[in-house]
Amino acid sequence: QREEPTHFGAGPAQLPTEVLQQSAKDLINFNNLGLGIGEISHRSKDATKVIDDAKAHLKELMNIPDTHEVFFMQGGGTTGFSSIASNLSAAYLGKTGKVGTAGYLVTGSWSQKSLEEAKRLRVPTEVIFNSKDYNNGKYGSIPPESEWAGKVKDGQFSYVYLCENETVHGVEWPRLPECVTSNPDIELVADLSSDILSREIPVSQYGLIIAGAQKNIGLAGLTLYIIKKSILEDIKKASEEEIHKAGLPITPIAFDFPTVVKNNSAYNTIPIFTLHVMDLVFQHLLKKGGVKAQQFENEKKADILYTSLDQFPNFYNMPVDKSCRSKMNVVFTLKKEGLDEKFLKEAAELNLTGLKGHRSVGGFRASIYNALSVESVQKLANFVREFAEKNA
Ligand code: PMP
Repeated sequence: QREEPTHFGAGPAQLPTEVLQQSAKDLINFNNLGLGIGEISHRSKDATKVIDDAKAHLKELMNIPDTHEVFFMQGGGTTGFSSIASNLSAAYLGKTGKVGTAGYLVTGSWSQKSLEEAKRLRVPTEVIFNSKDYNNGKYGSIPPESEWAGKVKDGQFSYVYLCENETVHGVEWPRLPECVTSNPDIELVADLSSDILSREIPVSQYGLIIAGAQKNIGLAGLTLYIIKKSILEDIKKASEEEIHKAGLPITPIAFDFPTVVKNNSAYNTIPIFTLHVMDLVFQHLLKKGGVKAQQFENEKKADILYTSLDQFPNFYNMPVDKSCRSKMNVVFTLKKEGLDEKFLKEAAELNLTGLKGHRSVGGFRASIYNALSVESVQKLANFVREFAEKNA
């Protein structure tokens, strides 16, 4: 039992209490087996059903077409950065016989980190744009497509990568770039770690979606992948010998997409408890009315909080351009010096926690993921208003 939290941490994040209550029971005794879910074989009938259920519920929630496959891997978003670079460059080699260039659209520190990992693995990369170059050396905007679409058109890209919601900098793509989605030769690869299931998305337009679990969908430890099946076939066409000769990285076996898919996400021991929590979150969301209903609620929450912050432009500094403000991570700083600690202390007295900004940017960040209710966000918005009125 617990009082409903109002925790705005960026991740691991607050989860629905009823999901945790069910998970706690299942950790001790699952399906009346007399054993907890973490104590059964990952190849047992009960574990296989968890995997299949999670996939089916996610497909229903996201309207995933038959052209795409869902799988789960350990290692978090960061392992995703490496596995994307190695698997997708192999896919391009398998498909074309050539080494392609991986194009990165850099809008914050997570897309930058992903780019760095591809470079570290010696995958040829090109930065199509870095939004810092358009905004006085700071993240906080997305340049208009007309500025960089030419590069996408002229390049030989094995894939084009973006982070749909930059968790640290609070920058979210309002829509997918058309110059990428309208080009059938380019696979769009997107990191949705911090906005998966927060809004409806057209899955068919993505070559690959990855999302770490610990924000909107569960506990740390598993990463969700949704991949176009044709990419799996292309990866299989490139032999290890050819990949090696081309100077591309060989994917470690536990992260080799076709191997994981062939084994229904259980090539090696899948953390089945973590996956079960994810599935309970999926079921919870289905009961709530699905992604459409959640999106409606999230838009309302973001509107409440941004409106309250925008009401005091001389007090709160909003570093992100309105056109790409995140609906999940609301980033702001105080214009007056010396009040940061007071803000956090008074918020905590109202049980509003997890508001400290990322260490690289300072200030504040309110993460208003799916599990945060409209009431919780309203409570924070009221505090934001009162704090400004008292301290301006
Ligand atoms: N991508 C995004 C958008 C993230 O927010 C994070 C973590 N906060 C990561 C990737 C990295 O995830 P992990 O810590 O699971 O490796």
